[in-house]
Amino acid sequence: MCDHAFELLDLPGGIQEQIKRCNSVYHVRFPVKIRGEYQVFEGWRACHSEHKLPTKGGIRYSPHANQEEVEALAALMSLKCAVVNVPFGGAKGALRIDPREYSVDELERITRRFALELIDKNYISPSLNVPAPDMGTSSREMAWIADTYKTLFPSDVNALACVTGKPLEMSGVDGRTEATGRGVQFGLQEFFRHQDLLEESGLYGGLTGKRIVLQGLGNVGFHAGKFLQEEDGAKIIAIIERDGAIVNENGLSVEQVAQHLHKSGGVRGFHDGTFVTDGKSILEADCDILIPAAMEGQVTSDNAHRIHAKLIAEAANGPVTYEADAILRANGKTIIPDLYLNAGGVTVSYFEWTKNLSRMRYGRMARRLMESRAEQAINALRTISGLELPPEIEASLQTPVNEINLVRSGLEDTMRLGFEEIHALFKAHDGISDLRTAAYVLALRKIAHYYLHYSI
Ligand code: GLU
Repeated sequence: MCDHAFELLDLPGGIQEQIKRCNSVYHVRFPVKIRGEYQVFEGWRACHSEHKLPTKGGIRYSPHANQEEVEALAALMSLKCAVVNVPFGGAKGALRIDPREYSVDELERITRRFALELIDKNYISPSLNVPAPDMGTSSREMAWIADTYKTLFPSDVNALACVTGKPLEMSGVDGRTEATGRGVQFGLQEFFRHQDLLEESGLYGGLTGKRIVLQGLGNVGFHAGKFLQEEDGAKIIAIIERDGAIVNENGLSVEQVAQHLHKSGGVRGFHDGTFVTDGKSILEADCDILIPAAMEGQVTSDNAHRIHAKLIAEAANGPVTYEADAILRANGKTIIPDLYLNAGGVTVSYFEWTKNLSRMRYGRMARRLMESRAEQAINALRTISGLELPPEIEASLQTPVNEINLVRSGLEDTMRLGFEEIHALFKAHDGISDLRTAAYVLALRKIAHYYLHYSI
């Protein structure tokens, strides 16, 4: 964790040690019969901090999963939640598996068995520990986990709140799938509202026309890229994927590249761009904004000094290593840190969890009232002016007050306020020279507050 942030906070002895490490980790091995043979799977669930309950964080499926990574990501979850004022402690889980090697039926049996192991030890519970999707998992795995929990506790009215990121028809929330990418968009929009930060990073104007290199067209990268392109007018000049990169200075259609990727398994052969086999070299391409939205550890001490982007927007968890961060800052690059920028997922998970506890969809109480108020306002304007309203104004006044719009509104509010807090600290504190340190100090201060005031 960021030692410099701890130095700035000057916490009493012991508190730093408490926050630096995970409170508990459960390591489990279990066998599942696959194609006539028993295979042993290894998984982890780490709780970083119970200063707020439940603890929260995704479960990833990856052949590279290991305990050290799970613990680091659990700590990052505590920080993320604190930065954007989502009242959860941090947790993370992982199963060491390459999901591409198994059928859907096998994955269901493996997931349900993993869930049983975690439920048995209270590492999945609506009030204590609530997983969500992460790399290699999606709403499908969350549905299996929720159903396993519900089967074990049929009379628990909060059973479905044991996991978030569920399908909509299984008490999920509208907007959860797009949430992390949407949060990246809101975070970038907020950055571009701050003239001082734009000047420091050598950028000017708005997002329109900004040249973006995007790494990863998974759930986060796809939605972030699509929204920035379609709604903010940014130009996605390169997309880096597993098999290489596709480059087009005139801008790529994120939607079309994603379709090609799903059909062919890669970006090679996409009709409207030049394919580059060494995809990672495109991280270094000349552009305004680099959005690493794939794996951790993509910008390292090996390539950091060759990064051309003025702004690095960390959509993935930990895409820039500690050493690379120092090199980038020394080279005058601005970084919007992961612990803030990709907090959109857990924010909307919070909305889903509270929806499950209340058992009511968003907008049910206020929707008709708010929509009829808008109608009345339009009619009043017509009557007073004797004119028709311009169609775009009328349409915006008639924005439906439905769940997706309320979720987006709550997410935008969360991302904007989170950024304001980071920015205010960044400006006020002489010892803080970058947004990551500001975000760390902000988050650690909030977490430490609990340990200082509520520990017996
Ligand atoms: N896996 C996501 C993350 O890393 C979401 C976590 C959650 O919603 O609990 O932020």
